[in-house]
Amino acid sequence: MNIHEYQAKALLKSFGAPVADGVPLLDASDAPAAADKLGGPVWVVKSQIHAGGRGKGKFKELGPDAKGGVRLAFSKDEVLSHVGEMLGNTLVTKQTGPAGKQVNRLYLEDGADIESELYCSILVNRETGKVSFVASTEGGMDIEAVAEETPEKIHTIDVDVETGVDDATVAKLNAAFELTGAAAEDGKSLFPILYKAFTEKDMSLLEINPLIVMKDGHLRVLDAKVSFDGNALFRHPDVMELRDKTEEDEKEIEASKYDLAYVALDGDIGCMVNGAGLAMATMDIIKLYGKEPANFLDVGGGATTEKVTAAFKIITADPNVKGILVNIFGGIMRCDVIAEGVVQAVKDVGLQVPLVVRLEGTKVEEGKAIINSSGLNVIAADDLDDAAQKIVKAVG
Ligand code: ADP
Ligand code: MG
Repeated sequence: MNIHEYQAKALLKSFGAPVADGVPLLDASDAPAAADKLGGPVWVVKSQIHAGGRGKGKFKELGPDAKGGVRLAFSKDEVLSHVGEMLGNTLVTKQTGPAGKQVNRLYLEDGADIESELYCSILVNRETGKVSFVASTEGGMDIEAVAEETPEKIHTIDVDVETGVDDATVAKLNAAFELTGAAAEDGKSLFPILYKAFTEKDMSLLEINPLIVMKDGHLRVLDAKVSFDGNALFRHPDVMELRDKTEEDEKEIEASKYDLAYVALDGDIGCMVNGAGLAMATMDIIKLYGKEPANFLDVGGGATTEKVTAAFKIITADPNVKGILVNIFGGIMRCDVIAEGVVQAVKDVGLQVPLVVRLEGTKVEEGKAIINSSGLNVIAADDLDDAAQKIVKAVG
């Protein structure tokens, strides 16, 4: 689960990290008071969407010459005119895709005197099995481009789970960021704070781009992106309250109600599969035969008819779906339950696109009998390869 920059900053501030003063804005009428409260002389108006690259982004409604999604203002009037232009419009950035995202919230923040911009993130490093800092002096820009063009400027520093961020780790981080004087002193408190926030709140990613050294020599968190581990959210009701459903795919929200592992994708073949491994293999084989999957969907091991029905409805509700492939290997999951779910769902919502079903495993004969006697126009397949070819052919 992701949260907005202003929420991430409030969270980091509660752990003691240095952030600027700021006021979230949901309504333009609150802007004058917010601008007065901060006082200037420099304000920054920041679009709050769950995507990066806002500074270089463009508002669809405003044309290519208008300013981006992060704007400096040097007077209260300028603050208000930016707020008026930005709120409610659609921001397109490198990370939003061409459709962009509607800006429903802004964050008005004190302007900082920037000396230099650094890149700092914390993540779970699957290669080393540890939590790692990623540190670079090349902040403020696209870190993927830095990784590609000048990989030597990116440093990965593992944290020992036993000791946490100790003096030796801080020294490595300060060296990687080339910090000296007041900034290096600030690093001694900031890096342990960031690590504490990351681990205590079960984050999967904490990205600060940029972390800045200000003209006065001190460090400040200028941007913050946080993702939480969804499997640990039950431990953090305070974090769950920060969820902004308007930023999430409706189908994914619906799927989460039924505890379905669902991720929307860009292709046109809807998939209903059990088991993450089989789901991945199914997506691969669809691609092999020249099409793209519209989703990843794992109905799980012990799915009920109700859950299967919900899953099928979510797939058919997606207008991009031009065909559906049901691929079930019944181990714990029974094929007859899947079949009943599919038949029930089709009765409820109808079937406008070709449907290929491949069932194998526990109660497979019963499952096939249910589908065959249902009168549905289902294309039966024998194995995964056959199923993928049939759905690709049917979609055309
Ligand atoms: P994004 O990464 O989505 O573009 P950032 O929060 O990183 O958004 O802002 C983009 C750039 O805008 C930063 O790299 C920084 O140069 C400038 N900026 C952002 N916030 C402030 C601020 N409070 N004061 C001064 N400059 C800022
Ligand atoms: Mg940024």
